[in-house]
Amino acid sequence: MSEPIKQERVYSGIGVSPGVARGTIFVYNVAEEVVPNYDITPEQVPQEIARFEQALIVTHQQLHELQQRIATGIGPAAPTSILDVHLSITQDPALIEPVITRLNQEKKNVEFIFNEVTRKYVKTLAELPDEFLRERAMDVQDVTRRILRNLLGRETRTLHNLPLNTIIIAYDLSPSDTSSLDRQHIVGFATDVGSHTSHTAILARSMNLPAIVGLRDASQHLRTGDMAILDGYGGSLIIFPSEQTFSIYGELEVKHHTIEERLAALRDQPAVTLDGHRITLAGNIESPDDIPMLKKGGAEGVGLFRTEFLYLNRKEFPNEQEQYEKYVRVAHDVKPHAVIIRTLDLGGDKFHSAEEAPTEINPFLGCRAIRFCLARPDIFKTQLRAILRASAEGNVKIMYPMISGVAELIRANEILDEVMADLRREKISFDENVQVGAMLEVPSAALTAETMANEVDFFSIGSNDLIQYTMAVDRVNEKVANLYEPTHPAILRLIRNCVEAAHNNNIWIGVCGEIAGDPLYIPLLVGMGIDELSLAPTSLPRIKDVVRRLTMSEAQELAVAALHATRGREVTAMLTALLQRIDPDLLA
Ligand code: PEP
Ligand code: MG
Repeated sequence: MSEPIKQERVYSGIGVSPGVARGTIFVYNVAEEVVPNYDITPEQVPQEIARFEQALIVTHQQLHELQQRIATGIGPAAPTSILDVHLSITQDPALIEPVITRLNQEKKNVEFIFNEVTRKYVKTLAELPDEFLRERAMDVQDVTRRILRNLLGRETRTLHNLPLNTIIIAYDLSPSDTSSLDRQHIVGFATDVGSHTSHTAILARSMNLPAIVGLRDASQHLRTGDMAILDGYGGSLIIFPSEQTFSIYGELEVKHHTIEERLAALRDQPAVTLDGHRITLAGNIESPDDIPMLKKGGAEGVGLFRTEFLYLNRKEFPNEQEQYEKYVRVAHDVKPHAVIIRTLDLGGDKFHSAEEAPTEINPFLGCRAIRFCLARPDIFKTQLRAILRASAEGNVKIMYPMISGVAELIRANEILDEVMADLRREKISFDENVQVGAMLEVPSAALTAETMANEVDFFSIGSNDLIQYTMAVDRVNEKVANLYEPTHPAILRLIRNCVEAAHNNNIWIGVCGEIAGDPLYIPLLVGMGIDELSLAPTSLPRIKDVVRRLTMSEAQELAVAALHATRGREVTAMLTALLQRIDPDLLA
């Protein structure tokens, strides 16, 4: 086989989690139809035939094993007779012979030939008038995909047992895929789709795992086993890096390391502006295991605990006791600070299990978050009981996601009251004065925030969703990622409205979306009157550095100018100039 030339190649995407990873690529979950196409020499034909035979044998074995698992009741529920049909396909001369003939004639790699032959075969079957034969087309497709994966050496949806220093390349990774990545072996990942605020990107930052999204079709061109450097700062994936590229990245890492060391010294310093305005800096977490990272970043508690991650990758929802143990552990560990436990935000791009594919056409506009909880009070109440029991620690706050208006908020509070009444009756202790907050992340809520301020103790702006819903920009779609504009005048006006509603009613307001972790937007948020910022623990030192180099008066001046701007671009330019002046390291 003529080896592809190992020349440096660069793929550009969106760097969503900082850091540089060096390792070997593992191509996972690639789009099925992507098959390499290259020429072979006449001497390589026997080798290709041998690979084909081997793939047929392996496929036969896999199907046989599957059949046995089904027969003993431990495999998926499917009639074993279907597998008889599948097994026979692996030996079907109508498929095998044309592959051998064309290999000899066309001198192309066997995956390519096999794919061509099977596509033609499936198409012919699917067009036959006989229904029985048409159905057989599906079986042939199933089996030939399996043979193809075996030929390509691609594992089917498994990210376990990977070698050390693996860089995962995938068309997409779901948040549940990402949260189950093995940090010991996987040093970074890159996906074709996604954007900065997709939950997969958010998780990568939490896990401190360099990552790139939005590589468009890179997964189609990359091969398992290739060497690569993944640059999570700039969003480049470099295949077969040259010596010179290795050394450039070596220098980059040293530079970042120096900055990180300087920032680490701020760990125990308060987030206070040069003229004495104090901001609370908290961390976003997805699991109690994130607490050490949170402490390392010097967070003042947890501003957002995304509890739905406790529900992913499992068959059953966690019961009350299991949830209680997790919540109480976090509450205990973050003392004397508080933990804001957000109630379940399932839906959108987060689903209970990998098998549970989104059943709605527009899951982000569907039965997500509080809507799901209000529709399933049994699940909601179980979680509220667990949170309330943990609140006996004295430092727990509750926050509802995706509230769209006051009626929904009142309904959620009514259910909370019912749960409190149950606990009182059962003589189970909890914090009677537990604070309750609402996320402002749906434009209808941001516009009517003043109607809700009396119902809660605090607000937290979920900018990821607020921008997505206001600008109609899907937060997981890389094709529109460039339209996601936090400085758009509409967003600034909504934020101003939320801040005024909070302060006019004497409650505090935070931001827990990703803009709170981006140094660029900090002067704007501080200047607009945001009291608390909650962000990925790894970004805390950078954000604290910006706050400490800023004066409240210049931030307020900037906010006034920004609110007068007619385009987001102008605001971004103002913010860039300010950051360049006060903290140029962070801009680089
Ligand atoms: C947000 O929408 O900004 C937010 C913080 O919540 P999530 O990212 O989990 O949707
Ligand atoms: Mg949100």
